[in-house]
Amino acid sequence: MRIPDIIAEKKKKGKPSFSFEIFPPKRQELLDNIDETLELLCDLHPDFISVTFGAGGSTRNSKTVEIARKIKEKYHVEPVVHLTCLYYTKEEISEILNEISAYGIENVLALRGDVNPEFPVKNDFAYANELVEYIKSQGDFSISGGCYPEKHLEASDPVTDIRYLKKKVDAGVNHLISQLFFDNELFYRFYEKTRCAGIDVPIDAGVMPVTNKAQIERMVTMCGATLPSKFEKILRKYEDDKEALFDAGLAYTINQVVDLIANDVDGVHIYTMNNPTVAKRICDSIRNLV
Ligand code: FAD
Repeated sequence: MRIPDIIAEKKKKGKPSFSFEIFPPKRQELLDNIDETLELLCDLHPDFISVTFGAGGSTRNSKTVEIARKIKEKYHVEPVVHLTCLYYTKEEISEILNEISAYGIENVLALRGDVNPEFPVKNDFAYANELVEYIKSQGDFSISGGCYPEKHLEASDPVTDIRYLKKKVDAGVNHLISQLFFDNELFYRFYEKTRCAGIDVPIDAGVMPVTNKAQIERMVTMCGATLPSKFEKILRKYEDDKEALFDAGLAYTINQVVDLIANDVDGVHIYTMNNPTVAKRICDSIRNLV
């Protein structure tokens, strides 16, 4: 089923879609155990699970399609395959799309991928909107895209970033998933701005459960998310107590998700970091809301 149709179905019931993101693990033993993670996550009945895809031409990327196939065939949950384009040729993208299509997977998240100065780009695609156009020319896929409530790090300003987002949607994106953020007000303001710009596709709010300090520091550096003062207080108070930080971080995330749902967001997308325990704790707290 296509993601916008899933969201429309949930909307009829007055509920947002509720989904997870996972990544193919780097370490072989974790990859061998991916079934255990998938089983636990799928038991929580998400509306879909998206699987990340590396930016460079890593061999791990073949695992993305393999895992997505498993999610669909073995666990009967709708998968979304992430695809990045800077380091791929049109032929390579075409091969991956053929494979996805052969497995009956309909949903693709079209991304540019981060620039890595260590690798030469392949020059077939410069931005995600070009990948979107290419995917559309290759078959009948439902295409999602990424968006940035606090603007993309490389964008000169939010208005320019939203102008390019509109271009991506006009190219054929019918659903957006946001970058993680910790301050819901920033997401609500961003959502309003997209509507003013004529972007009318559903936007899922991307939420990262924060349960350890190193992870937060890494995320904030990578995506520039603002840390609200009430969140910083939690970090300061519990930075030396792992268990307490886990509980407090999770409570913050659950609060964030409840507020998003109360504000009628189209969907909540949890960056699970392949941690079913965290996903379960969140699900148990909001089971009747989604
Ligand atoms: P684009 O939409 O191409 O935008 C990139 C930048 O260029 C922005 O600053 C934008 O304003 C500007 N821009 C856009 N179009 C144009 C244009 N036509 N002309 C000039 N400027 C333009 N990365 C991975 O490697 N693997 C993943 O699996 C992955 N999953 C992600 C999932 C989500 C939900 C999100 C939000 C991000 C994900 N990323 C992933 C990270 C993403 O690849 C990076 O943020 C990347 O830098 C931008 O990708 P994009 O598709 O948003 O780029």
